[in-house]
Amino acid sequence: MYTGKTEKPCCLCDDPGIDHRIDLPPRAIQQCKHGDAIAWQDVVGEVSIYFCSRDWETVRDLVLETGMTPLPRCNVARASFDLREDFEAFTSRTREEPDQHPIERRFWRESKRVLDGDTEYPPSDRDRVQARIVTWALSDLEAPVAETGGEPTSAE
Ligand SMILES: [Zn+2]
Repeated sequence: MYTGKTEKPCCLCDDPGIDHRIDLPPRAIQQCKHGDAIAWQDVVGEVSIYFCSRDWETVRDLVLETGMTPLPRCNVARASFDLREDFEAFTSRTREEPDQHPIERRFWRESKRVLDGDTEYPPSDRDRVQARIVTWALSDLEAPVAETGGEPTSAE
């Protein structure tokens, strides 16, 4: 069964003409509109949301100038992500959930680097918007990575 991600329309207005994409760790789904309908723990890999050009302008200003996250208005039904395949849920008695810590650490480190100006090239607006949304979401949702600063813990 192919469960690959497909491109979705603008998560704010459903416009199929996409201008920008933002990638998020699965935990951030909890902050999205209708996010409670998705078991974010079962998401494998990153979550992508898309914006049309008109909404992108608004989102960029909201994040970079006003300092607010757009996620509560982003419809998770228009996000793209891979779910752990359903048959696994039936055949695996242990129901092992994907480990979200590595991807959260990666997102946290990359976002911090962008926000600290520690990148090889100056970050684009898109990079800065994504970095802010990611760090806000992981901090607000009390992701372990936000406590440890993204360094591997001794438990690993
Ligand atoms: Zn739009």
